[in-house]
Amino acid sequence: MTKPALTLYLAAPRGFCAGVDRAIKIVELAIDKWGAPVYVRHEIVHNKFVVDALRDKGAVFVEELSECPDDRPVIFSAHGVPKSVPHAAEVRNMVYVDATCPLVSKVHIEAQRHSDNGLQMIMIGHAGHPETIGTMGQLPDGEVLLVETVDDVAKVQVRDAQKLAFVTQTTLSVDDTADIVAALHVRFPAIVGPHKEDICYATTNRQEAVKAMAPHCDAMLVVGAPNSSNSQRLVEVGRKAGCGYAQLVMRATNIDWRALDGIRSVGVTAGASAPELLVNEVIDAFEQRYDLRVERVETASENVEFKVPRVLREPA
Ligand code: SF4
Repeated sequence: MTKPALTLYLAAPRGFCAGVDRAIKIVELAIDKWGAPVYVRHEIVHNKFVVDALRDKGAVFVEELSECPDDRPVIFSAHGVPKSVPHAAEVRNMVYVDATCPLVSKVHIEAQRHSDNGLQMIMIGHAGHPETIGTMGQLPDGEVLLVETVDDVAKVQVRDAQKLAFVTQTTLSVDDTADIVAALHVRFPAIVGPHKEDICYATTNRQEAVKAMAPHCDAMLVVGAPNSSNSQRLVEVGRKAGCGYAQLVMRATNIDWRALDGIRSVGVTAGASAPELLVNEVIDAFEQRYDLRVERVETASENVEFKVPRVLREPA
């Protein structure tokens, strides 16, 4: 039987970013240095496949520091942690390594600096996401006001409209955030913020590639986890950019083939925490069913690399 023809547009860049790469390396190096088990507070990055692979090597994933014993090392995830977490580890004399992405740490520093200068902080982010909790937790409870939407901007109650600054989560939709930032500037003309926002290079680049690809695609699949903020944003960006069917899939076995019936083109990308192996698995699954032509849609090239902390570069 002849297979139907299909063009698969493959987004570039896609998948792992420098912060995720570094966080995974930190866990692997910590296990090499101190032996198993090494505790990891929260999923090191939001991907089950990555977490399971590290668990097999000797990582133990917990949600709270209180679940870790005093005498084993603990790693804090790439999303960042409130200041109270390293403080609690120090009180217990624990060995800890902070795998917070340096681009998230930069936002933490910004928030602290504005607060030191007497400005009240507003954070644009998603309630309950670990990065939002970590960034808000750089300052005492109640000091950072969270806004998630343009509507929230109209409702937020501030101490002094002349003394305000904002930061953002790094993995938001570039376009939606621009609307929220614009609303903040209209309501609070004196508000201080980063030049654009704090959305990182990896989030921005992956969204740009999706925007370029989506109008050509009958369907689009984003390889990523449901709790991965940047992956969810890629699905939304794909839909807004004109692709009628954009879906998140954790791996090839999640593809709803019936929903793809009759398509002539499909776009494939991956969130910043999804390994390339899972993308290849998806491409292979299409190859089995279609006469496939793969076309790369490259909108940027990346060469960002972050060093692992010094303690892991030194012998045990
Ligand atoms: Fe860092 Fe951006 Fe990757 Fe998050 S998505 S880990 S902020 S580079």
